Amino acid sequence: MKNIWIIANWKSNKTIAEALDWVDNVGPSIPENENLKVGVCPTFSCLSEVKKAITVGNYPLMVGAQDLSPFDAGAYTGEESAFLLKGLIDLSILGHSERRQNFSETDEIITKKVAQALQNNIMPLICIQSQDTPVPKDCRLVAYEPVFAIGTGKADTPENANEVAKVFKQKYGDDLEVIYGGSVNSSNVQKFVSQPDITGVLVGNASLDAGAFLSIIKALEG
Ligand code: PEP
Repeated sequence: MKNIWIIANWKSNKTIAEALDWVDNVGPSIPENENLKVGVCPTFSCLSEVKKAITVGNYPLMVGAQDLSPFDAGAYTGEESAFLLKGLIDLSILGHSERRQNFSETDEIITKKVAQALQNNIMPLICIQSQDTPVPKDCRLVAYEPVFAIGTGKADTPENANEVAKVFKQKYGDDLEVIYGGSVNSSNVQKFVSQPDITGVLVGNASLDAGAFLSIIKALEG
């Protein structure tokens, strides 16, 4: 049976109180299922509190960052290094289109971030925007996120997303897991996840509200 990843990307949203309220609501309702990989990627300011709440509640919820430093720990003011995040997070989104656009992230910088993540046992979740986006070595989880679909309410078609996923699996190996991101909600999630080459979703806007996020998980149960 294939894995199903459902990863929440909160972007630059939620106070610590709001984050903990979300965990209290979502955590107890996540079904225990070995193949269901649910994760949440809060801001750095919420990470340790979210991690603590998940540990105390013993919820089947992974914790991720939305980025990390391309450098080791040390004299890099403002950076969050993988070495320091180790133990706090299971995975990190890397190469999101909002970082490429607003923070001039290049494929070269993303490759350095991936290396830092892997050295510190953090799973990189690489965002690819098109069939031309390179996947750095040893990345086994990628999110296909076409820019036109991010936050617009206009998702790609599941069939097209599957075509892209298929191309990436042919290029990088059949064990590459490809998830889809871009305006996913409870009405369309099932159509993406039932595609043969898509193994989950990355969810932005619809992950912010605990009820909306849970309804995405529920939509996959029926
Ligand atoms: C994202 O930015 O990773 C994303 C999937 O956003 P949204 O669901 O809001 O389109």
